[in-house]
Amino acid sequence: MIKFLDLQKINLQYQQETEEALLQTFRSGWYLQGERNKSFETNLAQYIGTKHAIGVANGLDALRLILRAYIELGIMKAGDEIIVPSNTYIASILAVSDNGLVPVLVEPELNTYNIDISKIEEKITSKTKGILIVHLQGRVVFSDQLKEIAEKHSLKIIEDNAQAIGAEWNDIKSGNLGDAAGFSFYPGKNLGALGDGGAVTTNDDDLGKTIRALANYGSNQKYVNIYKGLNSRLDELQAAVLDVKLKHIDEENNTRRIIAKRFIEEIKNPNIILPENPENENEHVWHVFVIRTAKRDELQAYLTEQGIQTIIHYPIPPHQQEAYKEWKELSFPISEKIHAEVLSLPISSVLEEEEIQMIIKTVNSF
Ligand SMILES: *Cc1c(COP(=O)(O)O)cnc(C)c1O
Repeated sequence: MIKFLDLQKINLQYQQETEEALLQTFRSGWYLQGERNKSFETNLAQYIGTKHAIGVANGLDALRLILRAYIELGIMKAGDEIIVPSNTYIASILAVSDNGLVPVLVEPELNTYNIDISKIEEKITSKTKGILIVHLQGRVVFSDQLKEIAEKHSLKIIEDNAQAIGAEWNDIKSGNLGDAAGFSFYPGKNLGALGDGGAVTTNDDDLGKTIRALANYGSNQKYVNIYKGLNSRLDELQAAVLDVKLKHIDEENNTRRIIAKRFIEEIKNPNIILPENPENENEHVWHVFVIRTAKRDELQAYLTEQGIQTIIHYPIPPHQQEAYKEWKELSFPISEKIHAEVLSLPISSVLEEEEIQMIIKTVNSF
């Protein structure tokens, strides 16, 4: 069987380095907020090109903390509106509503699956304070037009970079395009930990300092609390693993690009719409390879039968989730179409040549 994602195989590529790092951390007797976290934060900031990187407990917390920090700094307040794509993973939206902010959904483009920048301005009101862009599937969404809209309306651009670490726009890494960015190191992400992990990157000193305090019970100095904070830390074991894997992220992403290109060139089936390779290949790190077909469920059943595991990202659009029943009456036809038709094929740095050929051949024979 071809697994959707073989995490064991991915991590065993770096077995020796990882085991050494884990053992060293285990033996050090220091498990939180230590040298490994500091080292990973320094290396991540350097890789992304930002002044600050702050390790946190997970990707959802990274986004929650950014918005919470804007609230503490008086830049946002409960009831303010944040623009988000209507087809994102639910966590992007949860981060907004968790802070008492109001998510305002904007439809994506059908060819990129990313937020349609041309539809943002019509949703801006006097309450809008930010745009949460999501580099979905590993593809960067950014443009000069987006920057101009944000400047014109004094909006913060927050990046949900959970799926796109390593991607670039105009030689700038995602995570360094807006005012702040949230990263996830969930095991299945392109840079995955052995459990939960996340980070925030930013060039804003005040924001960085506030986030660091908020993630540490609201304190910058032990037992002195300036905010009603939370506890959201990246532990030393995860930081040690991530520091090892960060060195290999470009290779990982390049291998994904090569496989994506093969799929795009060699999958030929009139029933299937392939994802678009951006003109500048650096804009995509192919976290997932998503195809679209009106016969999605049949295709998935056929692939399962042929021994190829696939996943639907995602089966239910956020506005139709029970958690947001207040949006039940809203209509987002592009999102609804996407959620009804998409299917993600296996893609990762450890797919073997025969597996790549098998996936292509099987999809073509459907
Ligand atoms: C994974 C993911 C998150 C949440 O990250 P966790 O580490 O699982 O909390 C947020 N946004 C997007 C787009 C994601 O893919």
